[in-house]
Amino acid sequence: MLENLSNRLQGIFSGLRSKGRLTEEDINAAMREIRMALLEADVNFKVVKAFVARTKERCLEADVLDSLTPAQNVIKIVLDELTELLGRSDAKLELGNRIPAVIMLVGLQGSGKTTAAAKLAYRLKQQNHSPLLVAADVYRPAAADQLQTLGGEIGVKVYRHDGADPVDIAREGVQEAIDSLRDVVIIDTAGRLHVDEAMMEEARAIKEALQPEEILMVVDAMTGQDVVNVVSAFAEAVDFDGVIMSKMDGDARGGGALSVREVTGKPIKFISSGEKPDSLEEFHPDRMAKRILG
Ligand code: GDP
Repeated sequence: MLENLSNRLQGIFSGLRSKGRLTEEDINAAMREIRMALLEADVNFKVVKAFVARTKERCLEADVLDSLTPAQNVIKIVLDELTELLGRSDAKLELGNRIPAVIMLVGLQGSGKTTAAAKLAYRLKQQNHSPLLVAADVYRPAAADQLQTLGGEIGVKVYRHDGADPVDIAREGVQEAIDSLRDVVIIDTAGRLHVDEAMMEEARAIKEALQPEEILMVVDAMTGQDVVNVVSAFAEAVDFDGVIMSKMDGDARGGGALSVREVTGKPIKFISSGEKPDSLEEFHPDRMAKRILG
């Protein structure tokens, strides 16, 4: 994940380091290369433009160019701006004080919602919560079965009510959690292959009925340039609180991870990188930026 970008950036930096003193033209050339590397990683065009403009301005300041280690300073500025782009500070899961707390997952079909729901349940269970999974994806025939299988593997109960209305299922799920003394409800909602009004309407209806503590959008890191349109549409329609970036283990270009924060203002809260229940990690912008820069 993002390995190509990482390799490209490291190549650019080692070119700068080998030069000793840097001229304005060296910086301009490096910024052009960074721009290309980000675009090739599928980072959104506007995000790239703004990022490079900010970074370049800082790198061209006299004290950077005149310093004894200009390349180091440039790398530090890129690291700093990349951290900023990824969200600067960690955004944690906010469960509030209500019991049960409600977490609702939204996203396109195939984004990894059902998998992420189970991983999140597993994570919460490890933290001594007692979660309940709720299968409110009533359109994908196998979704409830899949959730039940995953729930079985991690020892978390799954509430399902096949054939019922998704808002009713979600409400019943909360009641079930109250009755069985569980403190967190994770609702797996329906996705469609593309952004569509009926899906948004349903998500809004569940949101309205349950007022979740957290609405997390699951975003497939392999989505490519279209990720910006998808997250913007969900941000506008459902106003989610944060993102779970799924499939970070893929070899795709993954630029969506660098675009979502800037485009929607919503933080990435978790990254999911594999099929195992324990492959959901909290997202740390600074660590990710350091990983990318190598
Ligand atoms: P949903 O339609 O949004 O509920 O998506 P699913 O949870 O069913 O996931 C769609 C496919 O992606 C399934 O084959 C999952 O096994 C796979 N998947 C989900 N999350 C990840 C991940 O983090 N890494 C990888 N490699 N595959 C994943």
